[in-house]
Amino acid sequence: MKLIVCKFGGSSLADGNNILRVEKILRADPARRFAVVSAPGKRFSADVKVTDLLYGCFRAAQETGDCSAAFADVRKRFISIVSELGMESFDIQSILDETEREIDLQKSADFTASRGEYLNARIIAAKLGWQFIDAKDIIFFDENGLFDEAKSYPLIEAKLRECGNAVIPGFYGTDANGKIRTFSRGGSDISGSIIARGVNAGLYENWTDVSGFLACDPRLVECPEKIEVISFKELRELSYMGANVLHADSIFPVRRGDIPIKIKNTFQPEDAGTLILPSKKYKKHGNIVTGIAGKKDFTVIFLEKSMMNSEIGFARKVLSVLEQNAVSFEHMPSGIDTLSLVIESKNLSDGMLDRLIEQIRDAVHPDYVRVLDQIALVATVGHGMTASVGTSARLFRALSDAGINIRMIDQGSSEINIIVGIDNADYERCLRAIYYEFFKKKKAS
Ligand code: ADP
Ligand code: ASP
Ligand code: MG
Repeated sequence: MKLIVCKFGGSSLADGNNILRVEKILRADPARRFAVVSAPGKRFSADVKVTDLLYGCFRAAQETGDCSAAFADVRKRFISIVSELGMESFDIQSILDETEREIDLQKSADFTASRGEYLNARIIAAKLGWQFIDAKDIIFFDENGLFDEAKSYPLIEAKLRECGNAVIPGFYGTDANGKIRTFSRGGSDISGSIIARGVNAGLYENWTDVSGFLACDPRLVECPEKIEVISFKELRELSYMGANVLHADSIFPVRRGDIPIKIKNTFQPEDAGTLILPSKKYKKHGNIVTGIAGKKDFTVIFLEKSMMNSEIGFARKVLSVLEQNAVSFEHMPSGIDTLSLVIESKNLSDGMLDRLIEQIRDAVHPDYVRVLDQIALVATVGHGMTASVGTSARLFRALSDAGINIRMIDQGSSEINIIVGIDNADYERCLRAIYYEFFKKKKAS
């Protein structure tokens, strides 16, 4: 029997009742031997995720040297979960006291934030009667803060091979100095993928609050179509561009092990969900476009210089300026005499934009420099686009019919992706215009 690693997101674990659903799912299939869990998420839309409460505790501890007032809300959440689960004999008070002491002592944002996953995993392991395996003992980061495969995988394999069933907290591991370090937000998806690869699972199930990967963000389009099967490549493009149902980096560990991912809905477990397959196992379906996703708040630095194409080293000099200032770029569309740098605006505060422009002028003497800010990027993704004539024309016509001004186009070399840059203000309309062009019209015809 091929084993299954299940990751449950915060939305699936927000309170005791939800954890009971999770228990039912895990017990329904003996192949589900390992559960990776997030911290409790929101119970209702105005609620605060436990991870956010914990970042608040860290700030309070920094300002006053004591996090007890802020930690009181975290206590309440876990005490009510334990009571909803009917675990009277589970001594949550002592575990919470110890956690609070450590937060005050460690004075680390990552340590503090990681306690949501730690506490939830302790409770869920006790409820299920499964072993608790701390992520700090099996997931490691190297000196550069990157996941350390060589160190982690043998430990995951060795530790988990021994136990029948285990609950492992997501989101964190141990850094090269022995301190707790977290992945970026939403990182329990990465932990689940790492565990799946470490135990050579047959399937990585990612349980959340939607019945699969949808063709568009459901907060922007009403009831978007569900994607039945999607390739790792398409998923990476969509999740990187903001379809945050799955963390964009969670694809790498399972991809290396050829392990499929299934997105499932904790609240409707009978729904088929979305199957995410390695590209070689993926067969194209009839759709031209698989999905659409986007993000706001980019800045574009547009450079023009006659004969740029024949000036050897032009791009390298421009990119060196970014490197010297430790600024990463998202895209770099170029023409014969033009080159644009697309950068997240949050990386350009405190005079960074002016510094970059001055240094680029000094390095390559462009004829013309223009800055576009408050730009949103929208990616239209699908393997079907490569073989289908006129896809770009349809996309651009849909945007022009909606009166949306395209500020930038990047038809990436991956050939499965067309990215348009538009004003932030047009973002929602742009996503909807593309969605209705490629999905609802198709249905109507
Ligand atoms: P979890 O708590 O399980 O980790 P997340 O909140 O991280 O869940 O991700 C699930 C949410 O992602 C959904 O509730 C949905 O609002 C949002 N989302 C954004 N884009 C998409 C998409 N294309 N398909 C499905 N969900 C999406
Ligand atoms: N709890 C963490 C967060 O809110 C990690 C996760 O949920 O995946 O970002
Ligand atoms: Mg998530």
